[in-house]
Amino acid sequence: MRKLFTIINDSVLARSTADSMLELLGDGYEISADDPAGADMVLVFGGDGAFLHGLWSWGFPEAPILGINTGHLGFFQELLPEDTDLFKQYCSGEGFTLQTYRLLKAHVISDTGELTELAINDFTIRDRGAKVARLSVTIEDKLVERFFGDGFIVASCAGSTAYSYSLGGCIVDPRVESIQLTPMAPINSKALRSFTSSMMFPPTSSITIEPMEDSSLDLGLYADGLEVKAGEIKSVKFSLSEKRIHVVRNKDYDFWGKVESKFL
Ligand code: NAP
Ligand code: MN
Repeated sequence: MRKLFTIINDSVLARSTADSMLELLGDGYEISADDPAGADMVLVFGGDGAFLHGLWSWGFPEAPILGINTGHLGFFQELLPEDTDLFKQYCSGEGFTLQTYRLLKAHVISDTGELTELAINDFTIRDRGAKVARLSVTIEDKLVERFFGDGFIVASCAGSTAYSYSLGGCIVDPRVESIQLTPMAPINSKALRSFTSSMMFPPTSSITIEPMEDSSLDLGLYADGLEVKAGEIKSVKFSLSEKRIHVVRNKDYDFWGKVESKFL
C-alpha cells in the first residue's frame, strides 16, 4: 500500500483536478489529507503559493513532493492536469528524478522572545509603513553596510526567480548553493548611501539585519510572503537550514529550460 499525502489549494480548479486525478489511481493507495507522517509522496494541487504555504503548514515533509499546476506560474509544479500518464507513473514511485532544495532559516529576536522560522523561497524584511528602513547589515561578525531604503529580500536559489528577480536580483542555478541579499529601493544620495546590487553569500554565511539604534521602525518579516508573528523585531539572523525538501522532476528536467519557458 503506497501512502500519498495531499495538499489541495482552495480553488474550484485545484479541487476538481485533484478529484479526477486521484480517481485514476485505483487500488493500492492510501490517500490522506490530514497526516503526512509516513507518506511515500506528497501531492500538491495548486500554484506556487499552494506549494509554499502548504509545505510550510505541514512542517516541510521529507517525502518526495509532486506538484500539479493549477495556478498561474507553477515554478515548483512539474505536471499539468493533462499529464495523467506521468501522474500515475510518478505516484507509483517510478520514472522521476528528485531536485533537492535547502531551506532558508531566520532566527528572530524581538521584545517578546526568540523564534526560528523556515522558508523555501525567501524572507522579506521591511518597514510595515511607508517609512525608510534604516538597517545595519552584519555578515558573520562584521558590519558591512548601513542601509537606507525599503528593506531586503533574503533569497535561496529557489527564490532567485521570485521576488528577488523582480527587484533585479540574479537568477541562481540551483547547483550554486547560496544566499542572495537583494535590496529593495536602496537610497543613494549625497546624504545616504547603500549598495544598489544584490550580494551573494556562500552556504556557510550568516547575515544579521537590525534596525539602526536611532530608528523608530515598525519592522515586518515575511516568510515566502506570509507574515512572521514576532513582536517588535530587534534583530534577524539569516542562514541556510540543514532541512531540505525533495521535489519530483521529469527525467529530462533542466533548470535553464524551465526558466526560459516560464520567463521569456
Ligand atoms: P503571489 O502573490 O501569487 O505572487 C507571486 C508570484 O510569483 C506568483 O506568480 C507565483 O507563482 C510566483 N512564484 C512563487 N515562487 C516562485 C519561484 N520560486 N520562482 C518563480 N516564481 C515564483 O504569491 P505566492 O504564490 O504566495 O508566492 C509567494 C512568493 O511571492 C514569495 O516567496 C515572493 O518571492 C513572491 N512575491 C513576489 C513579488 C514580486 O515579484 N513583486 C511580490 C511579493 C511576493 P504562482 O502563480 O504559481 O502562484
Ligand atoms: Mn500565487
